[in-house]
Amino acid sequence: MNSEYLYVHTIGCQMNVYDSEQIAMRLAALGYEQTASMAKADVIIINTCTVRAKAEQKVFSLLGRLERMKRDKKHLIIGVGGCVAQQEGEKILNRMPALDLVFGTQAIERLPRLIQQIKARRCRIVDVDMDAATQIPESLVARSNESQVSKFVTIMRGCDNHCTYCVVPFVRGREISRKPESIMREIQSLVQTGVREVTLLGQNVNSYGKNQNLYTFTELLSRINEIEGLSRIRFTTSHPKDLESDLILAFRNLDKLCPHIHLPVQSGSNRVLRRMNRQYTREQYLDKVNKLRDTCAQIAITSDIIVGFPGESQADFNQTLELVKTVEFDGLFAFQYSDRPRAPSVKLPDKLSEPVIRKRLQILLELQENFTRRKNMALVGSDQPVLTDGLSKKQASEPLAEMGPGLQWTGRTPTNKIVNFYVDGPDADSKNLTGKLVGVHIDRGFSHSLFGRVINTEPSVRGLKGVGNHAA
Ligand code: SAM
Ligand code: SF4
Repeated sequence: MNSEYLYVHTIGCQMNVYDSEQIAMRLAALGYEQTASMAKADVIIINTCTVRAKAEQKVFSLLGRLERMKRDKKHLIIGVGGCVAQQEGEKILNRMPALDLVFGTQAIERLPRLIQQIKARRCRIVDVDMDAATQIPESLVARSNESQVSKFVTIMRGCDNHCTYCVVPFVRGREISRKPESIMREIQSLVQTGVREVTLLGQNVNSYGKNQNLYTFTELLSRINEIEGLSRIRFTTSHPKDLESDLILAFRNLDKLCPHIHLPVQSGSNRVLRRMNRQYTREQYLDKVNKLRDTCAQIAITSDIIVGFPGESQADFNQTLELVKTVEFDGLFAFQYSDRPRAPSVKLPDKLSEPVIRKRLQILLELQENFTRRKNMALVGSDQPVLTDGLSKKQASEPLAEMGPGLQWTGRTPTNKIVNFYVDGPDADSKNLTGKLVGVHIDRGFSHSLFGRVINTEPSVRGLKGVGNHAA
């Protein structure tokens, strides 16, 4: 083993987080140890996102810093992967002389070979080939002792939809689903390393398997639900047009499937939805929300909204505000519309000015803030099953000081709300709750989290949506 170090910088979505882990594991096989220190690294990989212009700007400002670093460290290898790499290819290499490697979204499995070539010949490489991919390669599973409670698992890649604002189909390619056996194997291995919760990732999980004659997404969920030792299943993202009754029913029928769905609506105006090519109406969206709540009363619903899509009138925006008031989302990601190269909306007329978009975004976020807080406050006084992620970083925070000696832990409810909770008593310090499901009485609700105290560290109940105990 050599003692060289790898630093991976991730920008963007959960899928990039997953890809970055795969990058680290593939380069570990070459002897690279992952480090959290950029200064210590011999190889630096930036895994990029290009969904919005802001994320892309971050990549170039970071690359500028790295150029300066390389002047003093000649052997340093710098690579750019992910969506910006796929989109820009050779252009980034020309723009950034210190850069050694540009690799696309489907080149991760080839990365060890590319790094070896660069090391041996000090050449510069661009690999943004997408044609070869007819199957998703087998994922690697960490063998580290540092087990995590919750992990992402990519079940498909690419997207066959064509939302007019979106660059994903161009940089992630056609939709391909991973074979169910491969997904099952990965989750089973993760469970053996201590993982208790998985979040299945895809741009449109509802269409899992459809163009390849595999299981449907609901069938896949049913099989994963049977995995011994796994406590919770989550998934993202579900496209409203493809959300059918079998998946809605799964929230009632599958005991490990958490009652939370991220269902991006993007706009509350039918005129804007049409121009976005989302292929559902506001009425159809609201109908699905009602069905979800009729089937699973406690379900939490979160969403994405784009503000200031070209041609969005004040009346259109008001319709979005009305929809938010009607649904009362548990949480919302709201984005300023951003022109992306190759996305069809670039060519649409009637672009809105930056101040108008910013003002609308602020109004929307303020509206949502009330609902988020209200939803959290509604849980005050209740007992929640919380899957513990680990010790909270806020050991010295105020609630602790009030409550005397003890430890503060953090975890999530089945509805994906963050709960910081307190354990006191004589043996509080000796209990490791990481990975355990505990019962927590909620004492306080804030805008982004809940606070409570443990009432039961060994709940015996199973089947109560995510409750079931596992030794950490
Ligand atoms: N596949 C998912 C779906 O259909 O909802 C989401 C994919 S995208 C990576 C995540 C979110 O980014 C979208 O839901 C959308 O709200 C936002 N987004 C995508 N393109 C955008 C753009 N050009 N400008 C602003 N926001 C954008
Ligand atoms: Fe983009 Fe639409 Fe595909 Fe989501 S479904 S990745 S928004 S094209």
